[in-house]
Amino acid sequence: MSLKIPIEISARHVHMCRGDFEELFGKGAELTFEKELSQPGQYLAKERIDIVGPKNTFHNVAILGPFRSATQVELSITDTRKLGLAHAIRQSGDIADTPGCNLSHGEKSIWIDQGVIVAKRHIHMTPQQAMRLHVRDNEEVCILTHSYERSVIYADVVVRVSKNFRLSMHVDTDEGNAFACDTEPFGVILPLYDTATYSLEKWTEELLEGISR
Ligand SMILES: [Zn+2]
Repeated sequence: MSLKIPIEISARHVHMCRGDFEELFGKGAELTFEKELSQPGQYLAKERIDIVGPKNTFHNVAILGPFRSATQVELSITDTRKLGLAHAIRQSGDIADTPGCNLSHGEKSIWIDQGVIVAKRHIHMTPQQAMRLHVRDNEEVCILTHSYERSVIYADVVVRVSKNFRLSMHVDTDEGNAFACDTEPFGVILPLYDTATYSLEKWTEELLEGISR
C-alpha cells in the first residue's frame, strides 16, 4: 500500500535575507506574520515586493518568512519567460550560478546577482513516512497525479526528509495546471522499477535503441 501524497501548488514567491529586506523596507524592519503555511515554521508575510525583469514586472509578490541566509525568488517557467529571464531548475537553497533580477518596493530597488530559481518539484516527508514508502532523502521518484481527464506522471521528483516536515508534494503553477489540479489534489509514488532511482534520460535512449525492460 502507498500513501496519498497531498499536492500543493506554489505560486511565485520570494524568500529574503534580512539585509536585502532592510534595504527595501528600512533599517530594523521585520516581516509581519500573515498566514501559516503547511510546512511547520514557514509563513506568508504581509509585505509584498515587485520582481523586475527585462521584459516585465510582477507586482505585489508574496514574501515567505522567516528570513533566510540568502534571497531566493521562486518562479514558474512561464513566469521567467514573461519577465525575460533565463530559468534554472534547482532545489531550494542551491542558487549558485542562477540568474539575478531587480527587486523593488516603493521607491527602493535592489539588484540581486543570483537567486532566481524554478523550484525542482519535491516531496516533504518525515523519516517515518520515508521508511513506509521505502525512499531516502534526496532520492528521485515518479509520482502519478490523481486527476479527472488529465492525470500526469511526474518523474524527477526529489524526496526531502526531515522530522520537521509534513507530508506534501510541492509543484509550481505550470505543473499544477498541467494535471488540471482539483480541490484536493494528491498523487502516489509510482514504483516503476525495483531499483531506487532510474534515469529517464537513459530510459529514452534505451527505447530509441529498441531496448525494452
Ligand atoms: Zn517545498
